[in-house]
Parts: sequence; structure tokens; C-alpha cells
Amino acid sequence: SPIEAAFRERTPGSAELAAEARTLFPSGITHDARHLKPYGIYVERAAGPRKWDVDGNEYVDYFGGHGALLLGHAHPEVTRVAAEVMAQGTQFGANHPWELRWAEAVMKLVPSVERIRFTSSGTEATHMALRLARDFTGRPKVLRFRTHFHGWHDHMTHGVASQFDGSAAPGVLAGVAENALLADPNDFVGLRAVLDAHDDIAAAIVEPTGGSTGYTALDPDFLRALREETAKRGILLVFDEVVTGFRVAPGGAQEAFGVRPDLSTFAKILAGGLPGGAVGGRRDVMDGLDFDAAEARKRDKIGHPGTFNANPVSAAAGTTALRILAETGACDKASATAAALRERLNGVLKDRRVPWAFYGNFSLFHLFVQADRPVADPFAFDPLSLSATRMKDRPKELIRRLRLAMLVNGVDLNPMCGGLLSATHTEADIDATAAAFAEALAMLRR
Ligand code: PLP
Repeated sequence: SPIEAAFRERTPGSAELAAEARTLFPSGITHDARHLKPYGIYVERAAGPRKWDVDGNEYVDYFGGHGALLLGHAHPEVTRVAAEVMAQGTQFGANHPWELRWAEAVMKLVPSVERIRFTSSGTEATHMALRLARDFTGRPKVLRFRTHFHGWHDHMTHGVASQFDGSAAPGVLAGVAENALLADPNDFVGLRAVLDAHDDIAAAIVEPTGGSTGYTALDPDFLRALREETAKRGILLVFDEVVTGFRVAPGGAQEAFGVRPDLSTFAKILAGGLPGGAVGGRRDVMDGLDFDAAEARKRDKIGHPGTFNANPVSAAAGTTALRILAETGACDKASATAAALRERLNGVLKDRRVPWAFYGNFSLFHLFVQADRPVADPFAFDPLSLSATRMKDRPKELIRRLRLAMLVNGVDLNPMCGGLLSATHTEADIDATAAAFAEALAMLRR
């Protein structure tokens, strides 16, 4: 197709690396979300809201390091502190002062975190949160919501086709999948029915702004109902704030919506653009990891090794990033720019009478496009009206071509043609994105 031809013409260096990568990695990639046909771009460097590929093409970046970059790429202070700490050693095999500063920085912003443990990723954090909940309650089951993503460990059986029908993903034991209950987001009646039908639920885990970082929106009233219903039944409520933490507000979605979970999981922004995650929350629940508490209970504690837990370089970068974002109003700035971007892109859709809509809240934006559900007015689009929509209904080939067309025009969107903004995105980036989008639509029509 002409779009693919234009993409190939601009990216010979990426094409060469992608061919080599296919001899090394399944599908030639190292993260499923980087899967793009004919191939994804290979990036060499990045700064603020922009990044540059190996062919020298510049992109306005909305991939945002999978959400890790609220302060933009290579923030000068964060990278300086990380480099200084790295020069002193990368792994002490010992406690170190930075991990204390890092924990304090989180606790200052997120008051529900009374005790915290650092992990190497968000997946590890949600895994530990569920184990803590099972240990604390003595119950086996976990309730999760269709379309919500929590990483790839066994309890979050994230198969591509089977992901929300309750069946085990390839390689996951059926017995594990059977202990994961599924409910539909925003279905108050369904929620109560599931909770009433099971008295052995340890935890409910939720993406507090909605599935896949808000692609399927969550009604804040549903979040409040979930808090109430779980508290009544002794079920622990886990907010997966891996994306929303330190993004939608310095204190995450729990600050933005005024709902206090029992446990929270963090990653991404937490570590200032380096690897790192954390689980934190109620002290009595976190005591499941405590040697003395276990001894007092006369039972084993939950094991938690992890070579790179609280890695000093991540700790230093994270501590610095959390301080900067709290001091500079970065969350609000990114949210305001995202609102302006959504408006501009919807203006492009409306002008050209394209029946889609951009939506989202805070510093996120998503594209709604489904052939059988045309949107009459993108400005009047209500994402809550579509909350049960499965992501698999998306027109994947159209979205792939749109992504390629946007890359050709210098904009990198995420696999759903949306993205996350940083506090470094500016009016100029919005202008460039709106122009690129108009041109990409024209290319789609050719
Ligand atoms: N939870 C949510 C909401 C996420 O978006 C992600 C990753 O995108 C994870 C958990 C898993 O985090 P990680 O990729 O650090 O393992």
C-alpha cells in the first residue's frame, strides 16, 4: 500500500535492524506492544517530547516510554542524578540511603501507603499485591475487570484471544485461571452479584481510570461502589496505579477521585524512566512480608527476594522525578496539554466529517473508531456509554495503517492510536500532531 511504501522509504535503517531482530526474538520484538507490521521504528535518542530514529527522523512521542515519562525523555536533572549515582556503583547487595528517600517520596504523595516494598516491574508489583491479599485474608480468589491490564504473571492470564473470557492463557494452569473472577466495569448490579456469589475473594484489583489506562473508561461512582462493597465483605481493594500513579495527580487516581485503596501498585513514573515497581498500602497487610510479624503470628512470611529490588540508580532517578513532578505541577500541566490536544484532534475529525472520536482524561488520549458505531459529534462522545466494549472489536488493520501514516508524518502513537503526554509537550507539539493527523487521514483516503 502507498502508506507502507512511504513508511519503508523513510526507514531503511529500521528495516535492516528489524530483519536482524527477527532472527533473534519471537516476532522480532521485546515487548508485545512494540509489535507493528511491517516493522516498528528503531530509536536512537530522545529528549523531552521528541525522539529520533536510526534514520534521523524526528517524532513527537506519545508512546511516552509506555507511560514512564511524565517529565519527558531524558529529563536533565533526573539523568544527571542517575548518572552520578551509577558512577558510585549499580548494585551494592546491601541496603542504601536512596531507598529510604524513595520510599518517603512515595509515602508523602500517597498517604494510603503506610509500608512499601520495591520490585523491578509493575508485573511483579501486582503479583505481590495479590499474594499479600491472599495471605492476609486466607482466601484464594481475585476479582478483576474485563479490559483491565495488570501485567503478565499467571494470575493476570493475559492471553491475546482468551484474555477476558476467563479461560487460561497459553501456558497458564487452568486452576490458576479458575481463581480469577471476572466482572464488567461500570456494571453495579453485576458487581454485587459476583461478590454475593463468592465468599472466598481475597482482593479486587482495578485500573482506577479504566481498562488499558482509560481506553475503556471507568465511572468514578463505580470505583466508590467497589470501595464500599469490598470493605463490607473484608475484600482488599487493590488500585493498580502503575500508569495512573504520579500521573493523574501527584498522589495518583486515589488522590484524584478521593478513594482510598488497601493496597496500591506502582511502576513506570515511580522510577523516573528506569526499571522499578512497588507495592504499598496498609501496614497490617504489608506485614505479610515482615520477619517479626510472621514470627509473632507463628507462621511463615511471604518470601520477597529480587536482585534489583530498590536498585540504587532507579531509586535515585525515581526520588528525583517524584520531587520534581510534585514541585512543578507537572501532572496538571500534562493534563492541560492533553485536553488541548484532544480538542484539536477532534476538531480535525469534525472538519473532515470522520465519524471517530478522541477521548480520555488527565494526560491520556485514546481514539475511538469502530465501523459499526459511527460518532456523529466527537465533542459529544461519551466514553462511558461504551464501557463494556471489548478492545478486540477495534478495526485492527485500519489502526495499523493510521499508525504507520502518523509515523510517516512524524508522530509516534501507541498501539491503539492514542498516547500519554508529558509535562514537556507544548503547543508546537499539538500543532505538529494536528497537522500530521490531517495528512494521515488524507493518506488513508488515497
Ligand atoms: N499494570 C498496568 C495498569 C500497566 O499498564 C502495566 C504495564 O503497562 C503493568 C501493570 C505492568 O507493568 P510492567 O510493564 O512494569 O511489568
